[in-house]
Amino acid sequence: MRKKDSQDVLRKRVIIQSLIFLGIVLFFVFVALHFTFSSGLTQYVERNEFMFGTIVRLVVASEKRDPRIIMDAMVREMRRIERKFNPYVEDSIIYRINHAGGQWVEVDEETIFVLKKALYYSKKTGGAFDPVLGRLIVLWGFNDINASKHVPSDEELQAALKQSGWVKLEISGRHVRVDEGAWIDLGGIVKGYAVDQAVRMAKDMDDTTTGFVDAGGDIGIIGPKFGRYPWKIGIRDPRGGQDDIVGVIYLSNGAVATSGDYERYFEENGVRYHHILDPKTGYPARKAISVTVIGEKLVDADALSTAIFVLGWGPAIEGFEADGYQVMLIDTEGVIHETQGFEYFKKSR
Ligand code: AMP
Ligand code: MG
Repeated sequence: MRKKDSQDVLRKRVIIQSLIFLGIVLFFVFVALHFTFSSGLTQYVERNEFMFGTIVRLVVASEKRDPRIIMDAMVREMRRIERKFNPYVEDSIIYRINHAGGQWVEVDEETIFVLKKALYYSKKTGGAFDPVLGRLIVLWGFNDINASKHVPSDEELQAALKQSGWVKLEISGRHVRVDEGAWIDLGGIVKGYAVDQAVRMAKDMDDTTTGFVDAGGDIGIIGPKFGRYPWKIGIRDPRGGQDDIVGVIYLSNGAVATSGDYERYFEENGVRYHHILDPKTGYPARKAISVTVIGEKLVDADALSTAIFVLGWGPAIEGFEADGYQVMLIDTEGVIHETQGFEYFKKSR
């Protein structure tokens, strides 16, 4: 009897030990599977596309959908916007307005949104941001990377200046007009809008999407790396090579735009002539060589970086900081100026 009891106890112990062992094995199998599976899900997929005259880099991961499908939609959306707002192709809405002989043209809500944004920043920056510089931009050849570029004559500049200026653009309800001969060019803002739309599209398709869109230094964040960590973004050294930077910032969301005199320029008699024009003189702006603006939406940061490049470092910057934007400007001497809150973005947190 006693022997049978002890055999029973032994059997029970063996069974319990086996169960514990099995439990441990299952636990490790589960952990291994979990990591294999989840790291597969947070795999970032990268794509480079030539749009807006620059290389646009998309880095996207999603837990629910194939990131490539999301990127297809993002690229399609950006190309749609690029075509729609390109003033120099005949089927675009901006071309139609520019060639309407000063007549009112009915347009859609999206066009009104972008044009209103542009005019808002023209007013806010005393005309430093100007969406009606098409004539000047074409004169300098900055509308086309292949155009031969040279410094225009004084007469040419004066003639183009007469056909420029944001006051020539009017919006009324869903109608838009621009003075005859004046040309709208939204190159200083539309890339930002396109990136915002691509970011929004990625989030709409799947709210677990993370990553970013980098359109030649104008960056929109979709979400933090692996859902947790900020993206490290280098600010290019305007007098260095492609990979030289003057500093880094960390962003988990929002946007950052940089306007630099190194993006599109030519040299004549040792002088650099670049693509950001001072609407007052018609010549390239000379108060900065690089301006970086951090904000919530890239459409705003993009317009502001262009405007501040023209304005230079000055009292207006305080107003922009009060509106929620952080600014870093490198002046022509190479001196770096920053708003107080800019420091916050230099640390990873
Ligand atoms: P960004 O690289 O964003 O600073 O934009 C520069 C582009 O904006 C140029 O290539 C022009 O198409 C356009 N642009 C140039 N000067 C101005 C200006 N003062 N205001 C608005 N847009 C401008
Ligand atoms: Mg800009």
